[in-house]
Amino acid sequence: MSYGNLSLSAKIFLAMISGLLIGLFLQYRLGSPDWVNTWLTGGVFLVIGTIFISLLKMLVVPLVFVSLVTGTSALADPTTLGRIGIKTISLYLLTTGIAVCLALLAAVIFKPGIGAEPAAAALKEIASNKTFVQVLIDIVPTNPVSAMANGDMLPIIVFAIMLGIAITLSGKEGARMTSFFSDLNVVIMKLVTLVMKVAPLGVFALILMLGASLDFVQFAKVAKYIVLVISVLLIHGLIVYPTMLSLFAGLNPITFLKKMRPAMMFAFSTASSNATIPVTMETVEKRIGVNNRVSSFTIPMGATINMDGTAIMQGIATGFIAQFYGIDLSLSQYLMIVVMIIMASIGTAGVPGVGLVVLAGVLANVGLPAEGIALILGVDRLLDMTRTAVNITGDATVTTIVAKSEKELDLAVFNDPKAGMIFEKGEATH
Ligand code: ASP
Repeated sequence: MSYGNLSLSAKIFLAMISGLLIGLFLQYRLGSPDWVNTWLTGGVFLVIGTIFISLLKMLVVPLVFVSLVTGTSALADPTTLGRIGIKTISLYLLTTGIAVCLALLAAVIFKPGIGAEPAAAALKEIASNKTFVQVLIDIVPTNPVSAMANGDMLPIIVFAIMLGIAITLSGKEGARMTSFFSDLNVVIMKLVTLVMKVAPLGVFALILMLGASLDFVQFAKVAKYIVLVISVLLIHGLIVYPTMLSLFAGLNPITFLKKMRPAMMFAFSTASSNATIPVTMETVEKRIGVNNRVSSFTIPMGATINMDGTAIMQGIATGFIAQFYGIDLSLSQYLMIVVMIIMASIGTAGVPGVGLVVLAGVLANVGLPAEGIALILGVDRLLDMTRTAVNITGDATVTTIVAKSEKELDLAVFNDPKAGMIFEKGEATH
């Protein structure tokens, strides 16, 4: 089978492996000489990798806006949205709650902070993150254009839903707008497909840079923490979500996970749920069979408020830091950590590294030293990538469960292994 006939997912996988090997070679065999830093990791690959992420980000705001207006205006009864909203938010909170509890349990049982050495890195300037109250206030935009310019997802969602509802209520003028937006939606989805075709190159560049910067000396210092975070992420992704899928929706989780593979690889390479929105959306709609009426709402919302992987890292990191400083946490402190992390997850934007920034606030609130973050900062990139893959899998799991319960899941698409696959020469088949 030639490279051209491989599926997108196989190509991205090949790109990841070869990028990693070449990156490691540049660092450990060649010793990252100046020319590598200047021309490769700080030159060609930096340009390719950054442009790839920009291409994805470029699609996010138009896609979310157009797709959500289309989805809402296609609803026969706008009150359906309220029901979908309540189901989705409840499931998002439930999955995040399970994630934090698993993480704290793992931290208490395996005590990763005992005997760890700081994997020191200079504490970068930490961007301030919004408080929960501010997130609530900012949900309604004062200026939708500026919300779009800043890529603020929740206000964009609110504006798009309101516009969609107004369109449904506007008679024949509204009907013209509906067909305009649904045409535009098809065009933007086509754009997503086009960008996805260059993914192997972009992913190759991003993973090569990762390989060239992985610092195994730092890893060894907090090895137990890293292994624990990755193990709980795997348990959540491969046991908790599949169980929920079969329990709540009676669906085959293996089929689901297979179809999610490319989206997970995108999330892993970009470490950003937000940048991955176009791919997650394309995957749940074309490969899994969720109707746009559900996914246009649940996926952008999930990328913003549902961060199970991040909650897992935060739970284990909190236990790790407390243990490192020899601080015993009481039961009420544990409960407070659970609530704080669930709320923090809502205020965490789906962009690289933010989970750690938000953790600083959680630590301060439960009386743990926020400087403790410096202990794990140096090894966060790889964990950020891994938890982002879990974050978007959680969004897709909840989306699929909600769609099934609303009879908005096309089982023929779900059960067709080839549905929506993108090949080099072909197109998405659905
Ligand atoms: N990078 C994560 C995401 O985009 C957020 C985080 O944990 O830092 O989903």
